[in-house]
Amino acid sequence: MHKYLIMGPQGSGKGTQAKRLQAAYDLVHISVGDLFRWNIQHRTKLGARVKRIVAAGDLVPDEIVDDVIRTRLEQHDWNYGFVLDGFPRNRTQAEFFLESYDIDAVIRIDVPDSVVFERALARRVCENCGLDYNLIQHRPKAAGVCDVCGGKLVVREDDTPEALRERLEDYHRQTEPAFELFRTKELLVVADGVRSPEEVQRDIQAQLGLAPRPNPA
Ligand SMILES: [Zn+2]
Repeated sequence: MHKYLIMGPQGSGKGTQAKRLQAAYDLVHISVGDLFRWNIQHRTKLGARVKRIVAAGDLVPDEIVDDVIRTRLEQHDWNYGFVLDGFPRNRTQAEFFLESYDIDAVIRIDVPDSVVFERALARRVCENCGLDYNLIQHRPKAAGVCDVCGGKLVVREDDTPEALRERLEDYHRQTEPAFELFRTKELLVVADGVRSPEEVQRDIQAQLGLAPRPNPA
């Protein structure tokens, strides 16, 4: 059983690394962002609440986040473990989580703010099917056109420099204090995210003492 949290600023590649861990070790990848998006898409009561909060430019309150995580983990479909992505957002959520769950490690992927900007501003999304592209790492075959559905690639609405600056500030101010807690509990593993996804993956595997496995993807 492997139970991990994976954290890092936007563009650190934590989603990619979470998916690689999932694929290689049969873990369940639980993305808080995906859970919220699912609820919004399916027009649940929670989705409506989250949508209102986000539209007002506010952060989703701790109790909603805790509730979503708890409900998801109670499904107990994670026979080999899980990797929780996008959580916790702050020290309170971290403390609350550690009261209820044992985890094996917290993986933090570091990238400097300048790289966060570079990567985010290179990001495009298909306005038709929602597939993500990156003009640096994952380029479409034809410029501006989705490989899968032929839809138009556009800049994400929330990738403006102002929104990005705000999210980064939030990460430094709110999320970073949680790392002190994880460090004192000797759970923290730090990887430099300014490398290829393969290199970051090997580093994380080595630090976690995981036997390297070929990446099925
Ligand atoms: Zn598409």
